[in-house]
Amino acid sequence: MIITYQYKLRPNKVQVAKMQAWLELLRRHYNYCLGQRFDWWEHNRCDVNACPLTCSVTPLADRPNYYSQQNQLLETKALFPEYKNIHSQVLQNCVKRVDLAFSRFVNPDATGKRFGKPRFKGRGRYRSFTFTQIKADCIDGNKIKLPKIGEVKFIYHRQIPTGFACKTATISLKADGWYIALVLEDKSVPVFTPDESPNEENTIGIDLGLIDFLVDDSGNSEPIPQHYRKAEKKLAKLQKKLSSKKRGSKRRANAVQKVAKHHKKVGDKRKHFHHSVANKLVRKAKFIGCENLNIKGLAKSRLAKSVNDAGWASFISILKLKAANAGGLVIEVDPRGTSQHCSNCNAKVAKTLADRWHSCSCGLELSRDHNSAILIKKRAIAEGHPVIGSKPNAQSRETEKPPLYRLRYLVGSMSRIEKVFRVDEYDQQVG
Ligand SMILES: [Zn+2]
Repeated sequence: MIITYQYKLRPNKVQVAKMQAWLELLRRHYNYCLGQRFDWWEHNRCDVNACPLTCSVTPLADRPNYYSQQNQLLETKALFPEYKNIHSQVLQNCVKRVDLAFSRFVNPDATGKRFGKPRFKGRGRYRSFTFTQIKADCIDGNKIKLPKIGEVKFIYHRQIPTGFACKTATISLKADGWYIALVLEDKSVPVFTPDESPNEENTIGIDLGLIDFLVDDSGNSEPIPQHYRKAEKKLAKLQKKLSSKKRGSKRRANAVQKVAKHHKKVGDKRKHFHHSVANKLVRKAKFIGCENLNIKGLAKSRLAKSVNDAGWASFISILKLKAANAGGLVIEVDPRGTSQHCSNCNAKVAKTLADRWHSCSCGLELSRDHNSAILIKKRAIAEGHPVIGSKPNAQSRETEKPPLYRLRYLVGSMSRIEKVFRVDEYDQQVG
């Protein structure tokens, strides 16, 4: 079992200076590695069906990858001795981050989606570094021993559970100070899996909404706190103050800090709310059915501010984790028609967004969200849960043809003759 605990650090001035220097150096190195990747791409790319007028005709250079960039660290240390002060694992992790960001951009994941283009990080935008290994006995009272930084004071507000050992430590600079996130692992704790199928008793259906945060299938609702909406006034004030400050001045930097702190406070409150609601649900039932919403799409609509303020996506990920730790499961069901159909007779009862009451010809009278929650529960029970260990999509993934952009990338990495060959092959495949 793997868990993460976060603590607030109380570093002294020397340690703060050191960590800030590390972050700046790491930022530069991150940008350098990323630049190398883009550079290679720019000089070796070629469209599937076009003469490479845009690229050089020199032979293909070696493509930078994680290992080559990691090997270059030696060179970097020789050229810029200040990098020798940084712990080697932290530096390697910086290269790893470039590798991850770039491979997510280039290679589609299991569902065929790719991430956005990684960006160069401006001053102050590189805010965390990771020790990929840390000693199990690094904590001594209210101090934590970090390699090359020394003993740093921290607020040990929560004991590390017995049996768990520290695996990695990530130190991050947030708006209100430095934090450390410890990843803890206990191999003796087995992964809990639900030993039964969802049924009427052990399942709960929830309907996420913007009027109530959620309504469950027995009609209980959780009011929406609207943290951001409540904080907007103060935020506007702070931002107005910020806008009157001269660029580059110390006062402006302070005002920026105040705005950032305020944002963090709002985020923290929301997170706390999500955790407490998820806890309540997990105690109620083993299986939790919810809608598989297109949150990204909704966040682009007119409801964007309310949708983002509710933070459904982060709530669902918290809920999934909590359910898994309790040996339960979150079942995401098809959201189509959950608000339009009757939970009793399945007849279609058309409603607009403004209609908050569901009244059906079969005699069912209840609030719209309550009706949806019952339907979601029914769908979750019908869907059941797949046999643990089997991956439903594994087979369909293998038989899928490579998408065109993937092939284009492959083509880009081969020599000229092979390129032509590949293109013909692809034409044959497509027919
Ligand atoms: Zn009905």
